[in-house]
Amino acid sequence: MKKILFAASEVHPLIKTGGLADVAGSLPRALMELSQEIRVILPNYQSINKTEEVRFICSVRVNNQDVNILETQLPDSDVIVWLVDCPELFDVPGNPYLDESGNPWHNIADRFTLFCRIIVEVAMNRAHLNWQPDVVHCNDWQTGLVPSLLSIESNTPSTVFTIHNMAYQGVFPESTFYDLNLPRELWHPSGVEFHQMLSFLKSGLSYADRITTVSPTYALEIQTPEFGCGLEGVLSHKHEILSGIINGLDLEQWNPETDTSISEPYNADTLSSKIINKTSLQARSSLPVNKSVPVFGLISRLVDQKGIDLVIDCLDEMVNMSLQFILLGSGDKSVEQKLMNFARLYPKKISITIGYDEALAHQIEAGVDIFLMPSRFEPCGLNQMYSQRYGTIPIVRETGGLADTIKDALPKSINNNTATGISFKASNSGALLEAIKRAMLLYNDKKTWKKIQITAMEKDFSWKNSAEQYLALYQEI
Ligand code: ADP
Repeated sequence: MKKILFAASEVHPLIKTGGLADVAGSLPRALMELSQEIRVILPNYQSINKTEEVRFICSVRVNNQDVNILETQLPDSDVIVWLVDCPELFDVPGNPYLDESGNPWHNIADRFTLFCRIIVEVAMNRAHLNWQPDVVHCNDWQTGLVPSLLSIESNTPSTVFTIHNMAYQGVFPESTFYDLNLPRELWHPSGVEFHQMLSFLKSGLSYADRITTVSPTYALEIQTPEFGCGLEGVLSHKHEILSGIINGLDLEQWNPETDTSISEPYNADTLSSKIINKTSLQARSSLPVNKSVPVFGLISRLVDQKGIDLVIDCLDEMVNMSLQFILLGSGDKSVEQKLMNFARLYPKKISITIGYDEALAHQIEAGVDIFLMPSRFEPCGLNQMYSQRYGTIPIVRETGGLADTIKDALPKSINNNTATGISFKASNSGALLEAIKRAMLLYNDKKTWKKIQITAMEKDFSWKNSAEQYLALYQEI
């Protein structure tokens, strides 16, 4: 049995801005089910959704500041959560990274340095909690100072650092390093210094005992200049301690058999009921109700990473094909505008919803036939896995977690019942269009299509698998 301190800046359902929160809300539960002793630690933001009882457990002094630690639990579980309570930094409106006006916190380095200092006090059993972890599992740059601060202590727990997205690094001017009063011996090119700047992410990578990321392919990709965001050298130097573990899914929330957001539940044995979800989605989206036309779907943040521009480049051709397209997303305003223009021009073919809508996301996964995910890079990705569970065939670019979770439908994989989607290599609209045409052909071969749907629906996307891999890693260090 291992004692694990799991540190993250967001944890679902307490607070969420993205995929990190899903991992931090699910992996600790799965580790507990494997009989591990786990504590989750995160800042006590004002906007935390507290459904369970919260109580004060101790006070800790760091860097001349007194900070309280509060205790609560992950809802519907016995997982203990420690909230770092520093009202001056965290009891303010906004999200973990942005202030009320949507600008990055002016004091974001102070916020997460304090968080890291408290994690270190807990890790060293100096917080009067009478509990010392064997492993501190850090996630993303907001926890990046933990491994470096622990490196100057003795008798420390081991550290694992997980990268959820290399694009976010926590880089600040050199002066911030001194303002934060960080130990001088950490300032060097194999430490926290990154081109004369302070990098929280590099700090995590430089000092952690093990580095992981959220898919095996992304673990290889980030060792190259195209994906490494300047840290490819550090990562390839550390390749022996770097590995990829794919994220699991919340199988209760994403289950077509029990999903209360969709019109008609179904499973692999009652797949014909999926059509009811298709026709009600078409009606809801003000598109002609037509059972036989292939419907394409997309749910995403509309940002460069997700390759939405490739889809926009394909739309001129797609509107001449016998298909419908339903998109839900928000992000880049010019992308939103272009998409809305297409919907206005082709109201019988294209439906665009700008915004964030969980229920509609479920209805799209259940109602469409084909899901588009042409990401430029994708550390893990969730929607391609949800799609498979819902018998919706994903078209993905072969990168990161998309490459690891989709088996391209080629004659061999179709024959041996391993095909679960369609993938393409080049990051351009020509390659995407070809994949779309390939999907249309396959869709018309009803027997093969159903075979691919069933293979996809029967795949195991549980957290148990991934939690076992993390546990093996904790045991190895
Ligand atoms: P990322 O974390 O890079 O945004 P993922 O595919 O890993 O991408 O996870 C995105 C999650 O957010 C998925 O659960 C997806 O369904 C959800 N999502 C993204 N945009 C929307 C939206 N506009 N409405 C509802 N859910 C959304």
